[in-house]
Amino acid sequence: MMLDRPVALITGASRGIGRACAVELARNGFDIAVNYARDEAGALDTVELVQQAGGRAAALQCDVSVHEAARELVRLSEERVGPIEVLVGNAGITRDALLIRMSEDDWDQVLDTNLKGVYNVTRWAVRPMARRRRGRIVNISSVVAFKGNLGQANYAAAKAGMIGFTISLSKEICRYGITANVVAPGYISTDMTKDLPSDVKEALTRQIPMGRPGTPAEVAHAVAFLSSPQAAYITGQVLPVDGGMSSGFIS
Ligand code: NAP
Repeated sequence: MMLDRPVALITGASRGIGRACAVELARNGFDIAVNYARDEAGALDTVELVQQAGGRAAALQCDVSVHEAARELVRLSEERVGPIEVLVGNAGITRDALLIRMSEDDWDQVLDTNLKGVYNVTRWAVRPMARRRRGRIVNISSVVAFKGNLGQANYAAAKAGMIGFTISLSKEICRYGITANVVAPGYISTDMTKDLPSDVKEALTRQIPMGRPGTPAEVAHAVAFLSSPQAAYITGQVLPVDGGMSSGFIS
C-alpha cells in the first residue's frame, strides 16, 4: 500500500464524467474517495477501475444536497482514504421543463444538488485544506451556465451560480495555497444525455463546431490539468471543454 499518494474526493463518481475523473486522477498518482448517491454497484466499479489504474479507493455514499451528510463525507474521505488534496464538485442532476411547467420540486432538487451540494462539500473540505496550506478545487459547471437552454432554467441557474461561487471562493482561499476553478463541459456522451430525443441530440451536435459530442475522458483531462502542480498559478477561471460550442460567449 502506498501511503504518500495525494487524495482526490470526487462527488458523483459512480459513472460518467465523475468516473472518468477518478480514473484519470488515479493514472496521475491520486488515491480516490468515490462519492455516490444511489448507485453503489457503479461506485464499486469505479473503485475497481481506480485500482486497475494503480490507485487506492473507497466508495462513500452521500447525498451531497444534505449539509451534515456532506460534512460526514469529508470526514470519512479523510479517515478512509487520506487528506484531501483535490476536490472535484461533479455531482449533478437535471429535471428539465419549460418554466411554466417547472414545479417547485424540479427547481429545488436541481438547485439543492447542483449548487447547494457544491457549497455543502466545499465548506467542510476547505478547512483541512487551509490548515495544510494546499489544495485544488475543480467544479463541473456547463456551457448552459452562459448560453442558457430551453427547459433548463433550473440547471442553468445552478451551473451559473456555481461559477460565481467558485470565483468568489478562489479569492478567499488563494492565501492558503488553494486554487479553485471551473470546467464547463458542452454536450458529453453520458447517462445524463443518452435518453435525449434524437432530434435534440442532432440539434445540439449542430451547435458544436467540432461536429461531435465530447467524451467523459476529454473532460477528465482538463480536470486533471487543473488539479496538477502545473496549474499552480491558475485560479478563479472557467475552462470550457465543448468542441468550440461556447466560443464567443465568454472570454
Ligand atoms: P451522470 O452520468 O448522470 O452522473 C451523475 C453523477 O452524479 C452520478 O454519479 C450520481 O450518483 C451523482 N449524483 C447525482 N445526485 C447526487 C447527489 N445528490 N449526491 C451525490 N451524488 C449525486 O452525469 P454526467 O453526465 O457524468 O455529469 C456529471 C456532471 O457534469 C454533472 O454535474 C453535470 O451537470 C455536468 N455536465 C454534464 C454534461 C453532459 O453533457 N453530460 C454537460 C455539462 C455538464 P448516483 O449514480 O449514485 O445517483
